[in-house]
Amino acid sequence: MQPAFTPAAHILWDAIPQHFQEQVLQNVWCPHCGDMNTMTDFTGEVHGKSLVLGGKCVTCRGKGARVLEGAPVSEALQPGDKVTWWNRMAGGDYVYPVQATVLTVTAKQVKIEADDDGKIVLRYVPPESLQRQG
Ligand SMILES: [Zn+2]
Repeated sequence: MQPAFTPAAHILWDAIPQHFQEQVLQNVWCPHCGDMNTMTDFTGEVHGKSLVLGGKCVTCRGKGARVLEGAPVSEALQPGDKVTWWNRMAGGDYVYPVQATVLTVTAKQVKIEADDDGKIVLRYVPPESLQRQG
C-alpha cells in the first residue's frame, strides 16, 4: 500500500518511527463504529503544524481521521547531512525537491547550501521543508 500523502505530509510521516506509524494506523477513531479501528487507504495532509491522516475503516469501510499534532521533524539533522529541500513555489501549494546540504541547524531554521538548477544558493529554511536522504 502506498499512502496518498502530500509531499509535506510525507516529510512529517517519514520522521515518525515505524513502530509508532503502525501503532497510529491501527488506532484510528472510527465515528461509524464508535471504536478505535485499523484504517486502510490512507491519505495525509498537513494543516498548520499538524499531520492529518484520513483513512477507511477496515470494519465498516467508513471514513475515519486522526490528527498528529506537532509531529517531530528533522530533529536529528546535523551539519553536513545531505537533504532534499522541498522548495515551495511563491504563493502556491506546489513544492519541488532541491538537493541540499545542511550547514547549520538552529531550533527554528536550518541553513542549507542548495543546488537550485545548477546554481549553488544559501538559504535559511524551516526544518519542516527538509527531508533527510537515504
Ligand atoms: Zn468503522
